[in-house]
Amino acid sequence: MNLVKVFTFNPFYENTIVLSNENKECIIFDPGCYDRKEENELKSYIGNNKLRPVKLINTHGHVDHVFGNAFIYDTYGLKPELHKDELQVLRTAPAISNAYGVPFPAPSPEPEKFIEDGDEIPFGDMTLKAILCPGHSPASLCFYIERHSVLIGGDVLFRDSIGRTDLPGGDHDTLLKMIKTRVYTLPDDTIVYPGHGPETTVGYEKKNNPFVRM
Ligand SMILES: [Zn+2]
Ligand SMILES: [Zn+2]
Repeated sequence: MNLVKVFTFNPFYENTIVLSNENKECIIFDPGCYDRKEENELKSYIGNNKLRPVKLINTHGHVDHVFGNAFIYDTYGLKPELHKDELQVLRTAPAISNAYGVPFPAPSPEPEKFIEDGDEIPFGDMTLKAILCPGHSPASLCFYIERHSVLIGGDVLFRDSIGRTDLPGGDHDTLLKMIKTRVYTLPDDTIVYPGHGPETTVGYEKKNNPFVRM
């Protein structure tokens, strides 16, 4: 069992993340599983490690991050939690996905709980701090776990890149400002697990990221 397990799923190569704690509970972030094979891969990992899923969190509502919400609800009874200003994005995901020519598997259940900037979510021996970072989408959230120097980053900061800002609700200047003030202010050794591509660190990006340097 890993603290953080990353799966890369669906035609958009999205990273689905399972975060586990010492009590064998897990939080599923951005379940992008698109077909039966990907669903089984995720389910097997959870089953083989005897994990108990306790939360489903969407960093934001884009299609590639929510394809598997219905599967997670059907399998584990969990409804998605996200920022309330992402609700519209989540609701329009099936239509947008169909417009891309990627049929949406099954609509997400409606959230019952929302996460706000600064919320502290207790999870075993750790606390997840929600950091609002709009710019890629209207209300993307990152989750900082100080105890393990980990950031679940969504589509805000990638290794040597940043999230695209040409989708509805995106804004380039806002994204750059958020990265500078809310991500680059975390310790350099913070490991960032982004929504696409390999992991990175805050220190590496501050030195090397071609879009936002400090
Ligand atoms: Zn996105
Ligand atoms: Zn994405």
